[in-house]
Amino acid sequence: MSLPERHILSKSTFMYGNQCLKRLWLHKFNPSERDEEEAVQTALFQSGTDVGLLAQKRFYGGIDASPVDAFHYQQSVYDTAMLIARGAKVIYEAAFQFNGVLAAMDIMVKRKDKWYAYEVKSSTGVKEPYLQDAALQYHVITNSGIELEDIFILHLNNKYIRKGDLDLQQLFTPTSVIEDVKMRQEGISSKILELKNMLKTKELPNIEIGPHCNIPYACDFKGYCGGGSIAEILDYGQSIIDKEAINDFVQTLKYPLYFLDFETWITPVPEQDGQWPYRQMPFQFSLHIQNSVDSEVTHKEYLAESKESDLLIFVETLLESLGNEGSIVVYNKAFENTRLRELKEQFPLYESAISALQERLVDLMSPFRKKHYYLPEMEGSYSIKQVLPALIPELSYDNLLIGDGGEASSVFYNLNKNQDSDTILEIRTALLEYCQLDTLAMVKILEKLKSLN
Ligand code: SF4
Repeated sequence: MSLPERHILSKSTFMYGNQCLKRLWLHKFNPSERDEEEAVQTALFQSGTDVGLLAQKRFYGGIDASPVDAFHYQQSVYDTAMLIARGAKVIYEAAFQFNGVLAAMDIMVKRKDKWYAYEVKSSTGVKEPYLQDAALQYHVITNSGIELEDIFILHLNNKYIRKGDLDLQQLFTPTSVIEDVKMRQEGISSKILELKNMLKTKELPNIEIGPHCNIPYACDFKGYCGGGSIAEILDYGQSIIDKEAINDFVQTLKYPLYFLDFETWITPVPEQDGQWPYRQMPFQFSLHIQNSVDSEVTHKEYLAESKESDLLIFVETLLESLGNEGSIVVYNKAFENTRLRELKEQFPLYESAISALQERLVDLMSPFRKKHYYLPEMEGSYSIKQVLPALIPELSYDNLLIGDGGEASSVFYNLNKNQDSDTILEIRTALLEYCQLDTLAMVKILEKLKSLN
């Protein structure tokens, strides 16, 4: 057997073409026009890799057929064929090629002479694009002469709560998708033909930006196609200020007022006891307090030493800071409420105290979500990042070192990793400033609502 010729389509280029012919064309013939990758995306890609390695450990004793780099997949195809011929029972990163289409499979397992394929995903369930991927993999593998008894998406199990060492059997859930991918086989064959024909003509497809640019994934050629102007063509409508409804909301608030915001970190794989995949782990809160209508606002805050810090300290500091009465004003109540419920389940000792906090929560987002107060500057959104500059332009996130919750989460997660004490101090200060602005923003937004009546 010799190495096959270089492939024309791979799983990812097939996916690009399936989303948009122009995306595939640009990827192949004009890749330098791609938008710059954001740091957050890189971090997500890296966490996906870790999950892949853990999944391999779940299938003990496999042989890795992955290529030395993306230009040597044909060697992988060759190695995989050799491993199968020599009776390998578990292969990691097995590669197959049929009719110019390459597909790698994360894990192939042979049991009682039958092959089972596992595609690893770091999500907690099966999503539509995974089924498209699996259908292409099935097409290539079975046409390469390997009969598949079953094909699974091996995803994370969000019901698994870590206690002690990671339990890899529990951490992952295999979901069979073979019936679904079999039904898609006809469509796969015709799509492959269409994509190959388009690539042969080398003509740039004439496709305008539209909703397809974000489905199933955000395209990374939006800059080239003018995706930045998608927002400009939208009409953000008229101002709405329903003073009566806003006043009704303001009247529900009971002093002292506590303006509260949590920050959380998150990882696919639980790192400590009590954590499950993608559990939002609270590490910081900011609290502005106003005792009566006319009194000055005071501030309290908590920031954990590190992600290993005991969550119990967070809970106890929070309970001490929030007193026994008065509204707890948050922006997007579902978030803080869910975190409190999770903490309550983890620390039953504080069940009734945390329940009492939940009963005091008031959602400042509510008048904006219900469109009792809307300005075109909010650009159709009721997120605090849009509402704040529309209502209080002088208060802005623009000059902060940390500009959003995702960034706060990521810098905290990496805090203390090879950083000197000055850097750590600088980051901690930036985290405190960011979270403080979130609750100060709420204070100012409420003042604005009150001033309308
Ligand atoms: S931005 Fe939209 S139109 Fe342009 S290549 Fe991407 S998906 Fe296609």
